[in-house]
Amino acid sequence: MTFSASKYDLYFNIDHTKTHFEGTCKITLKCKIEQEEKNESVIILNGNELVITECRLNDTTPEINYIKKDHLIQLSFPNGIIKNNDVLLIKYLGKLNQIKTFQDKTMGVFKTNVMNDQSGKADSIVISTHCQPYHASRIFPCFDQLHLKAKFKITIETNDRFKVISNGSVIVRELRDGLQIVEFSETPYLPACLIGFSIGDFQFIQSEVLTSSNTITTLRFYSPLEIEHCTFALDIATKYFPILNNILFPTYYPLDKLDFVLLPFLSDMAMENFGMVTFQMDYILLSSITNPKQYQQLEQLIVHEMVHQWIGDLLTFNSWKHLWFNESFATWLANELLEYVWTSPDYLKTHYFPTISQLSTHSIKDTLPVAADGKSTDELFQPQSYIKGVPMLRELIGYVGKENFIKSLDTFLDDYETPIDPKSIWCNLGVENLYNWFIASKESPIFHIRDEGTSWGIDKSDLNRFGDVPIFLNKEKENTLASLLTQSENDAKNILYNKDMLGLYCVSYESANCIDAFCNRVDELNEQSLYKVFQDLLYFINTPSKVNNYHVDLCLKFLQKMSCDPCMESIDEKFYHSISIALQILQKIQRSYINSDCKLIKIRDKILTPLYMKFKLRSKLVELSDTVFRNPFELEIHSQLLFLLKLPELDSEIVSNAKTLSFDILKSLMRGSPFKKVPLEIIGGALANYSRFLTDALEWKKILDIMKNGRPFVCHLLNDAGSNAHVAIQNVIIENIGYVIEHELVEKTLKFVYTNIESTSIEMLLFGFVYNACHKVVNSKQKKQEKEGNVQRSGRNNRKSLTKRNNKSKVNNMNTTMFVPLYSGEYVKDICWSWFALNFDNIARRACRKGSPTSEQLNKTLKNIFMVIAEIYLSGLSVTSEEYRKNSEKLKNFVVAKNCKFGDEMDLKSLLDTVENEKRVNDDGLKKVCIENEQSLLV
Ligand SMILES: [Zn+2]
Repeated sequence: MTFSASKYDLYFNIDHTKTHFEGTCKITLKCKIEQEEKNESVIILNGNELVITECRLNDTTPEINYIKKDHLIQLSFPNGIIKNNDVLLIKYLGKLNQIKTFQDKTMGVFKTNVMNDQSGKADSIVISTHCQPYHASRIFPCFDQLHLKAKFKITIETNDRFKVISNGSVIVRELRDGLQIVEFSETPYLPACLIGFSIGDFQFIQSEVLTSSNTITTLRFYSPLEIEHCTFALDIATKYFPILNNILFPTYYPLDKLDFVLLPFLSDMAMENFGMVTFQMDYILLSSITNPKQYQQLEQLIVHEMVHQWIGDLLTFNSWKHLWFNESFATWLANELLEYVWTSPDYLKTHYFPTISQLSTHSIKDTLPVAADGKSTDELFQPQSYIKGVPMLRELIGYVGKENFIKSLDTFLDDYETPIDPKSIWCNLGVENLYNWFIASKESPIFHIRDEGTSWGIDKSDLNRFGDVPIFLNKEKENTLASLLTQSENDAKNILYNKDMLGLYCVSYESANCIDAFCNRVDELNEQSLYKVFQDLLYFINTPSKVNNYHVDLCLKFLQKMSCDPCMESIDEKFYHSISIALQILQKIQRSYINSDCKLIKIRDKILTPLYMKFKLRSKLVELSDTVFRNPFELEIHSQLLFLLKLPELDSEIVSNAKTLSFDILKSLMRGSPFKKVPLEIIGGALANYSRFLTDALEWKKILDIMKNGRPFVCHLLNDAGSNAHVAIQNVIIENIGYVIEHELVEKTLKFVYTNIESTSIEMLLFGFVYNACHKVVNSKQKKQEKEGNVQRSGRNNRKSLTKRNNKSKVNNMNTTMFVPLYSGEYVKDICWSWFALNFDNIARRACRKGSPTSEQLNKTLKNIFMVIAEIYLSGLSVTSEEYRKNSEKLKNFVVAKNCKFGDEMDLKSLLDTVENEKRVNDDGLKKVCIENEQSLLV
């Protein structure tokens, strides 16, 4: 576009009783220098649902063309020549949108009726604006692009009973015949999407803060109701505004006020209009703070919006595709100011860690939402956007230092009229390549720590390959680029290569000496650094092409250190998160050792037993107080230990302890005793353990009933899990009840899946069977007979021999030394397969019924079940084995037969291919490492 604006002079006449408002817009035009002398005769403006009543430029009236589908207005001046600084005058009508529910999108100018505290009627009025990303064009004709900045002068005429707020400060307020005309000070250069005003029956509270230049800035909260409940928010703004305004960005904020306006409806949580932040009021109005988390969330929200006043409002980015950076910056700086955030386990667990682990393995580009062409804020503002840039900023600042970073931002703020690309921040600090790494590369770098003679260090070829990446060692010197790392820094004293998880790279520890040193000196490391080590480890363990012996070694040695080190009588909380990740890995290792009792016994005795004893779950459940489980990772550890200790074949004191405890936890969930309350987080592990030992069909039925209705059991939960607690209980049950191994219960579970096939996610009930696929089912009725016959367990046999023995026992059942097998001889996988083969047609017939609303869901469920069953059926078999070939053949024939019968719409073939491919890949992964590594790793 040839033209943009250097200034808008806007006059709004807003009558709250009407459905439209009147506007007058004077645009001072700006054209690119090189075009200044050309004869231009067309101006194209953004305008959405605006009707122009008058338009003039230098006494010339243009021909007006509405290009409705693109929300554009084309003005053609047949005889006119448009010059720089010409003023275009437009009078128009715009829509005053009525917002009644949360479903209504707030766009342009909108009005809401609010309940009046005094009259009890909904006759209070709130009118406000929402421009981001492209809705300024619903308020005034403009050049509505993020990179086009101009100054705005706003005047509002409206009923004199209302408070009137806008970006600038009020400079004149004139009263006339029940009306008021309020003139606001001119804004600095802003994009049109940051303009806004609010009109309505507001009350306010305010505070004043002193700026570094000894002037006063007024902070004010406006709300149509319950203004007294804004005090928490006002306190927060009053505390943090001076830090931003006086210390971090001195001299840049041009206003003597910052307003915060609470709205009954706003499609986003908040909107950072310059000088006038709007909030959806439910997030701010708090009559009391019942837990510290609530206050922290409020702090984060308000500080985040205040940061935007400088970064995002004054300093802006030149395209919507950089939105993620703008948001991440505000999140990062808010977190820096609210120091607790980086160390709060809750925050780290729910927000930060998941993001950083995603970034460790994917480039920013892969995780970027499609922002460039997004039309609504819903599309643009994905939760991911608010955090994904944070690790990048931490790495940059870790490398250049915070002071240099802020100083560098100043150079951009000095020239804030020019919007920037985030890349220029990296360029300005001389690390452009680092930015390119994030944006362009497919995968994060991996540094391998390998032996070098008697010491160890980062592999030389990695150092050459990733020379531009800053390395964060646990020694004093932190900001070293890989290429600058000298031999003395890269030496045996260092045990950590990504301090404070500042670096966006993974580290693979592949030196036995380094792993030993790491485990011996693990006390020196902090929670974040440890977390990153184990998160990387989890990534390697889950990636068949990357996993090796050292990874298993590090995991087991660390856990053994935690379990058995006599110096660690009780385990420091900083280790909890890492232990819970290591136990997650141990689960996989334990499964890979399924045929090696001696390794399983070692894990049981060297890790699980001592850890279980240290964590004392039973006594904590008995003592039970609010603070007993304050660390969220501790509950994960408890749950994992119960899961790992479901070892009926390897009975020991601890195994039976864990079993009794699991039974008591489930009893307490159902009846409120022996423990009054149980934390939701441990139910999963307890139930898996419980199911594995369960033989009683009546007990099993009671648990399944919880799955149908969790509500009556919510009162037995320890922590308030919110209004969806019953759903959370149901989900935990469905995911963990499938670990049954008793023949009758396995069949009942399958029957339950069949009779509830129309329920969503019912296939999750089969997850336990995937885990136990290679186990033989137990026949407890048989066992009972054995007991009656007073016989002992003597081994595992198949069904054939069982029948034989039984025949014998009839004859000779008083023989106490007789050999009677425990197992019925059928594998879980065989039972699952025959169940599926038998019932498939019935389900498929219903799933293929066209036009039925349930058939679509059923179709999805059946596909999912097919994949799970295929995985179960091929489980435990090496892809090269004859038995694998046979089972795979059987599945393929099944697919062919069903395609003949039902058509290939369900595409079972490609589902089977997916399962088989995954299986092939996994066979090369951890399992192979575990099988090949015959020397046991545990000492
Ligand atoms: Zn934001």
